Amino acid sequence: MTETPVTPDLSVIIPCYNEGENVPLLFARLIPALEALGVTFEVVTINDGSKDNTLERLLEMQKAEPRLRVIDLSRNFGKEKALSAGLFHSRGRAVVPMDADLQHPPEAIADMLVKWRDGAEVVFARRDARTGQKLSEKLFAKGFYWVFDHLSEVRLPREVGDFRLMDRKVVDTINRMPERSRFMKGIFAWVGYREAEIVYRQGERAAGTTKFNAIKLLRFAFDGLTSFSNFPLKVWSWVGAAISTLAFLYIVARLIRTMIWGVDVPGYESILMSVLFLGGVQLLTLGIIGDYLGRVFDEVKGRPLFIIRQLYEPGER
Ligand code: UDP
Ligand code: MG
Repeated sequence: MTETPVTPDLSVIIPCYNEGENVPLLFARLIPALEALGVTFEVVTINDGSKDNTLERLLEMQKAEPRLRVIDLSRNFGKEKALSAGLFHSRGRAVVPMDADLQHPPEAIADMLVKWRDGAEVVFARRDARTGQKLSEKLFAKGFYWVFDHLSEVRLPREVGDFRLMDRKVVDTINRMPERSRFMKGIFAWVGYREAEIVYRQGERAAGTTKFNAIKLLRFAFDGLTSFSNFPLKVWSWVGAAISTLAFLYIVARLIRTMIWGVDVPGYESILMSVLFLGGVQLLTLGIIGDYLGRVFDEVKGRPLFIIRQLYEPGER
């Protein structure tokens, strides 16, 4: 069996959360696909605090596979941080993150390598269609991209997830980014570099169920937006200016009216309306400011992105 050289040509990074069932299926397909590439490689798996037998399965795989490295995180940190852990510990000249559920076909890596050798520093893999998604999810994704593009300075490529190939230069740059909120899609787009793309067909999840639900996705989207745009913070000065202008015009109109026709006491609704409306806008604004402040607080605390319980290198046990 082949040992991994210190700097392999390729690192494949796979975050795993409760993927016990998928691990054997994944390796049965991944390893032959990687061997067919004719390059040296390592597979870096991250056990993101799984509650099932994912870690045991991975370590079992490692006994027969000396090119497999297993990072065991101390708890569930979420896919983005697990991925960051993998990026930190990868050593390959090219790095490919992919999902554990075989939705990303390992065979597509061959096409990526071709583009990489042609000089691309980032090769994204574009899904040719969204499979296994409800209409509401597709609409949500569409809406998110529309808002993100209009509010943020980076443009997210469409139908492109974390499955991609990155040159070592790119990975080193990302590893140097200190931010704690890891919206990887945005970070990947932000760093730039020479890009190319391939198209792949996304498969169905091999086993188990998706780890994301509507609320998690909504939070993820909002997180992405606020990490890459200050617009939600700034828009309120415009809203405030508009409301003040309208209020001013209203006051002038009322004053003139009072001067011509005298005082008439009713006016209860208009007062109540403006108080309630302004109160609502102010609370919303405070909420948005609070969200950014929370983010600043997280960054200032400077806690590590993730905690590794143990790093299992092949042949150590
Ligand atoms: N994942 C993870 N930590 C989490 C959630 C997910 O490491 O907290 C991993 C998961 O094991 C899988 C990948 O992220 O390898 C993508 O997850 P999933 O397939 O559930 O997402 P979907 O394909 O539905 O977007
Ligand atoms: Mg999946």
